[in-house]
Amino acid sequence: MKKVLLVGCGHYMDSGYGCPGEWRCLKAAALGEGKFDESVSVIAFVKCECPGRPLLSNIGMAIKLSGIKPDAIHLTSCMAGAKPGCPHLDMKEISGMITEKFGVPVVMGTHAYK
Ligand code: SF4
Repeated sequence: MKKVLLVGCGHYMDSGYGCPGEWRCLKAAALGEGKFDESVSVIAFVKCECPGRPLLSNIGMAIKLSGIKPDAIHLTSCMAGAKPGCPHLDMKEISGMITEKFGVPVVMGTHAYK
């Protein structure tokens, strides 16, 4: 089974109602729905925190402490598809930085549940 690491928008997770952090991302990963081609194992769920500066190091720490290199890193739908968008991070830029630093492909989004 493929292993994935999820990265969510902490600001939205902490302040929004019906936050994707409670079940949507995990359901899509478990059932192979949304942006997941198949059922996958979630090995870490990292919260981005404004203004996003520690994000790369926190992803690195999650990989190091879990001892598992994920096959893919997903930016959650609330992060990659936010409208209005994140005022701090350019999602294409940060996904490129993640791939460059960890050698892992980044997928934009997780689920399409309402
Ligand atoms: S920096 Fe952007 S993506 Fe990260 S928590 Fe703040 S609003 Fe969300």
